[in-house]
Amino acid sequence: MVSMAASETAIREAGQDFIRDIIRADLAAGRHETIVTRFPPEPNGYLHIGHAKSICLNFGVTGEFGGHCNLRFDDTNPTKEEQEYIDAIERDVRWLGFDWGGHLYHASDYFEQLYQWAEHLIRAGLAYVDDQTQEEMRATRGTLTEAGTESPYRGRSIAENIDLFRRMRAGEFPNGARVLRAKIDMASGNINLRDPALYRILHAEHPRTGTAWCIYPSYDFAHGQSDAIEGITHSLCTLEFEDHRPLYDWLIDHLPVPSRPHQYEFARLNLTYTVLSKRVLTELVRGGHVAGWDDPRMPTLAGLRRRGVPPAAIRDFVKRIGVAKANSVVDIGMLEFSIRERLNKSAQRRMAVLRPLKVVIENYSSGQSEEIEAVNHPENPADGTRRVKFGRELYIERDDFMENPPKKFFRLAPGREVRLRYAYLITCREAVKNKAGEVVELRCSYDPQTRGGNAPDGRKVASTLHWVSAADAVPAEVRLYNALFLRPEPNAGDFAADLNPNSLEVVADARVEPDLAADTSHAAVQFERQGYFCRDRDSTPDRPVFNRTVGLRDSWAKAAAKG
Ligand code: ATP
Ligand code: MG
Repeated sequence: MVSMAASETAIREAGQDFIRDIIRADLAAGRHETIVTRFPPEPNGYLHIGHAKSICLNFGVTGEFGGHCNLRFDDTNPTKEEQEYIDAIERDVRWLGFDWGGHLYHASDYFEQLYQWAEHLIRAGLAYVDDQTQEEMRATRGTLTEAGTESPYRGRSIAENIDLFRRMRAGEFPNGARVLRAKIDMASGNINLRDPALYRILHAEHPRTGTAWCIYPSYDFAHGQSDAIEGITHSLCTLEFEDHRPLYDWLIDHLPVPSRPHQYEFARLNLTYTVLSKRVLTELVRGGHVAGWDDPRMPTLAGLRRRGVPPAAIRDFVKRIGVAKANSVVDIGMLEFSIRERLNKSAQRRMAVLRPLKVVIENYSSGQSEEIEAVNHPENPADGTRRVKFGRELYIERDDFMENPPKKFFRLAPGREVRLRYAYLITCREAVKNKAGEVVELRCSYDPQTRGGNAPDGRKVASTLHWVSAADAVPAEVRLYNALFLRPEPNAGDFAADLNPNSLEVVADARVEPDLAADTSHAAVQFERQGYFCRDRDSTPDRPVFNRTVGLRDSWAKAAAKG
């Protein structure tokens, strides 16, 4: 697999990939008047950012070239599908910015038609009921180098097959007793053509069709025919279905379907330090490794939303990675770059201290306080300013002070002067320690001539620190998220061994500007010098909770450089 680094990948213009080239050529040649695509999720889990690639492609091309994109639930396996997933998928596609209009469909809408087509194949001598067990069928399937063996039931008469298939539908047989198979070629070089299963017996209630059916079509049988019924012109899917295309084409060739869809395969999205497999994501949730499908560490759209990622950033990211036929693993730094770029433009700035260290300004009298004007967004004057309280007791970030600073540490230290953002220049006079020898308080002085943060004599300071007023700031919980997995390409098999035990860092006693506590909008904010954050729904009226969406700098690039 090729790894695509953020810096190496040029921004691609919209509309320049092999799928769009095919569509453009089809339109120019008059093969289609209008383009119809579909996004076909199986409602057995939440959507993840890999699905976003498929959604942006399918809805994107019909947006660009005209036509429409269907949302079709591939609901052929009732044992794994749930209404919760259906609702989540609809919510997430909308959130990502796409609209299927009236074009909402379900494979289950076509169960009767699919059943009729299965009988059609039987009558044409192209399908038969097989009584072998699953194990027997697996054992006789052959291998990549050896042909399979024909089933002893392959020669059944059409009448017997019709009778048995109808009795399968009527519920006469238990699960697994029989399957309907296509009669194609047990010696085919393509294993998908070795008499694949079309229908299986499953006595299970379906979220939409209830108990009407106890036989369900296989994904392979439902898929292409659903496309044909909906008049899909370009059926876009991921590369693992390339080998299934000959089966889809065979079925379309032998059935009286209303249209002939063409399938085109593209590479699925893989992202470093995470896993885009519904099976693994389901296990992460069920095994309690994360707090749910919308845990902000999850690569699900629900998780990214809760983390504060704007949908536009996901669309930008998908555009940047492009659509190609070669499998690759995309650097998660590229996603973060897209998020940071969007949030930098939109997020207002605020001050929050994650790990507070008290500062007492000794020459500022205790009864006094003042309001200082702070800019909400340095590039958007329209965002205006706000007033923040300044007083004798403040908090700064613990990391912004060192008693014995090394050469390159430019922040606060004994005897050193720094700027408090928007406020004053202060000088550290003394570090007060507890019995354990830890610094618990800084005694400082301020220069009243430096209101706004600049000295009239023009003297310079080496750094500017963020701060909050101790009397006014509100305690808050801040959740910092790190990579969910320790390795860039985690093992999808034994994924638990690769989980990062420190993927969530809870900062329990942060202090934030009061207006951050009062604003319940969940809008993205930048905590100055820290990163982009948003309010989490776990917030209570007196204790806000914030999620770090992304830091200000590319921490991945730094980690990689360190080796
Ligand atoms: P599974 O089939 O294992 O349940 P899936 O991820 O393929 O998982 P589907 O609901 O079948 O889930 O996916 C819906 C659509 O999204 C399919 O067309 C699929 O090809 C596409 N898709 C899924 N994962 C990715 C990915 N990582 N990158 C791009 N497209 C994807
Ligand atoms: Mg799938």
